[in-house]
Amino acid sequence: MKVPFLNVQAQYNENKIAMLAAAERVLSSGCYVLGKEVEKFEKNFTEVSGTEYAIGVNSGTSALHLALLALGIGPGDEVITVSHTFIATVSSIQYTGATPVLVDIHPDYYTIDVRKIEEKITPRTKAIIPVHLYGMAAEMDAIMSIANKYGIPVIEDAAQAHGTLYNGKKVGSIGTLGCYSFYPGKNLGACGEAGMVVTDDSSLAAKVRKLRDWGAEKKYYHDLVGYNYRMDAIQGAFLDVKLRSLSKWDSRRKEIAEMYNSQLDKNMVVIPKLNPQSTHAYHVYNVRISNRDLLQKKLTEKGIATGIHYPIPAHLQKCYHFLGYKVGDLPVTERVCGEILSLPICPYLNDNQINYTIESINEIVNKNEFNNLHAQESITV
Ligand SMILES: *Cc1c(COP(=O)(O)O)cnc(C)c1O
Repeated sequence: MKVPFLNVQAQYNENKIAMLAAAERVLSSGCYVLGKEVEKFEKNFTEVSGTEYAIGVNSGTSALHLALLALGIGPGDEVITVSHTFIATVSSIQYTGATPVLVDIHPDYYTIDVRKIEEKITPRTKAIIPVHLYGMAAEMDAIMSIANKYGIPVIEDAAQAHGTLYNGKKVGSIGTLGCYSFYPGKNLGACGEAGMVVTDDSSLAAKVRKLRDWGAEKKYYHDLVGYNYRMDAIQGAFLDVKLRSLSKWDSRRKEIAEMYNSQLDKNMVVIPKLNPQSTHAYHVYNVRISNRDLLQKKLTEKGIATGIHYPIPAHLQKCYHFLGYKVGDLPVTERVCGEILSLPICPYLNDNQINYTIESINEIVNKNEFNNLHAQESITV
């Protein structure tokens, strides 16, 4: 049996008629950048983000870059975030000329360790970017109380967390600004690149709107040095169609996660620990195990595709050597990166494929050189 990691074509096949109609509408309109298709999607997406404003851009990375610029962040400033994230979170900080300050993660939740934020705050700290990694919210209550105490704005990286609620609030609406990605493999994915900045602050929204479109509110009148970060009309139109399936897809992700949670051999693998204040969008479902590479290899042999999100943390990437971090600086992050394995959780997988994945894992971890003490032990570095 083959178990693919992703199946984005299935999303198209299910929505074919509406997506082809959307393409026809855009192509025959001659309006290919921003315009009413993007405006309609922006408006509808505020139901996911729970914010007054949503500004469509050309990627999640651009969304983060513009959120930072809208807050006036630049050279000499510091921005606190995690190393255990997709590289875009860290790079967007660096694009502004500010310095990324990387904090270790919570040993169970894998999101920013709120006990380690305050010691990194300096007079130069101009923002905190918590990442709602894998689709589960970071500990926003603690983050917001630290941020409010020091008067520091918060940018939520919600690129993996469409639809996640924290204490009943939609992620992206809790901090000063929120950023979403619609990269094709995300829970809500375009047929190309796209992203969104969300906020309740009207002046920040106006600034992001200007910055995405060459710093001009009126064409050719450039108030700010801006960017070409506009969302394509066709992506807005496709996303608006796919938005209608998001909650159905998320329910299926949750069903698959529950199958994994209940049936995986928990004496051998560590399953995700849920923060009781957050729901989980299960963009990624991963387990932790001592001999991760061997498990991955054996699963590949059985036709089961897996992933590692992410194998090398940002602070140990070649491109960030200049930040001066070394092995051992973020011990929980480093250990987690070496032990996590992401299992297939695409909503189009059927129960047979998930059961086959579960049976294969349980068989492999009980037959090979895996350390069964590992799953009981928690990370205490
Ligand atoms: C995908 C992702 C981004 C970047 O989004 P793109 O649309 O790929 O530019 C940023 N942060 C996180 C956590 C992501 O997963």
